[in-house]
Amino acid sequence: MKVLLATNNQHKADEIRHALSIPGWEFVTLAEAGIRSDPAEDAETFLGNARIKAQAAHEASGMAVIADDSGLQVDALGGAPGVHSARYAGPESDDGANNAKLLAELEGVADEERTARFVCTLVFVDESGEEIVAEGAVEGRIGSAEQGSEGFGYDPLFFPDEYDGEVTFAQVPEADKSRISHRGRALKALKEELLHTT
Ligand code: IMP
Repeated sequence: MKVLLATNNQHKADEIRHALSIPGWEFVTLAEAGIRSDPAEDAETFLGNARIKAQAAHEASGMAVIADDSGLQVDALGGAPGVHSARYAGPESDDGANNAKLLAELEGVADEERTARFVCTLVFVDESGEEIVAEGAVEGRIGSAEQGSEGFGYDPLFFPDEYDGEVTFAQVPEADKSRISHRGRALKALKEELLHTT
């Protein structure tokens, strides 16, 4: 079984391959398969955006596809940045600008009210277009200054509850992050579903 990963992000592709590793299954990225698919991700939910990416790649290739969408929800900000996580500080924004904006928005918010979670939704579409959806989340708090240099995105500001609020995702080893992260949990749930249904 050959499955198309609707991403060109090598880091994500490696993580998906490692987490799913199902005997007889091969995972290829859009670039590796020579397929162009770059739909507008304009849905208001993670599921909506993951579905847009999965269905577009399926229509372009006729293959079975896995797509994901993820982001950070901060309770004190009504769930923002949410589906806008990648471009929170504007269309050209990078991780530094997004983190700076998040800190500015949370200025004056007390530690116990800075609760947040990373969420990830995965959509698997088989060759006939049938979907399986899997979700994962990891709870934590947003700090008041960046800490640590591993990872990416909002990792230096996110203190996962599992580590007693002492270290950020940018300070935990990659393997530990994969085990407890939103993406790691969604992948584990998807693997169980795939093993039961395919
Ligand atoms: P996407 O799923 O690639 O669209 O990711 C959306 C955005 O959410 C990323 O650009 C990051 O800003 C943020 N994000 C998603 N997962 C993580 C994570 O594991 N750590 C830090 N930031 C993340």
